[in-house]
Amino acid sequence: MNVLIVEDERSLSHEMEIYLTRQNYNCDVAFNGKSAAEKIHLNNYDFVLLDLGLPDMDGLDLLREARKKGSEATFIILTARGEVEDKITGLDLGADDYIPKPFSLAELQSRMQAILRRKHGLKTNIMSIQDFEIDIQNRTVICKGNSINLTKKEFDLLHYLALHKNRVLTRMQLTEHIWGDVLEDDYESNYIDVHVKNLRKKLSAQAPIEWFETVRGVGYRVNA
Ligand code: CA
Repeated sequence: MNVLIVEDERSLSHEMEIYLTRQNYNCDVAFNGKSAAEKIHLNNYDFVLLDLGLPDMDGLDLLREARKKGSEATFIILTARGEVEDKITGLDLGADDYIPKPFSLAELQSRMQAILRRKHGLKTNIMSIQDFEIDIQNRTVICKGNSINLTKKEFDLLHYLALHKNRVLTRMQLTEHIWGDVLEDDYESNYIDVHVKNLRKKLSAQAPIEWFETVRGVGYRVNA
């Protein structure tokens, strides 16, 4: 998952970056509204964690602008203001959640997980595909009682495909999601295919995986 942290308070943005990176998110950081707007325009973020009191702009204006330009990121507003009015305006503008400062990093992460579940219609942290159970909180995959040892990238791939089940995801979408920032040339490469191949090998050693489909010339799809 790609996350943009928009927070001018350096110690706080640094703490969030370290914590979320440890939880396997790819993090970018912006310290002002202008740089945040540029990053949102250029990259496909799953989450934007947005401070409202930025040095050059009100975070709510940034949110308004990003939505106008079609950003589909999940926005979580972080604010010390704690004013009901800000909260209502933020939610009206399309923020997905609101966390008053100070907050614990564990709480932030559990809110992110909860939004993800809600967005994808999941009731728990476990996604099941036939014999396989993907635990998105603990980042494990179990098949018939056996735990499958996946690398970080293999897990991220499976998780992302499973979240977007029944949809074809292109190599470019997957590359962007797994690596965050990518150079043009990377799209041409077969990175994704190599990881998919290894992932499939590990999964199919446990049970059939005809649900894991290659869509020729396009990408991959998990049918569930
Ligand atoms: Ca601030």
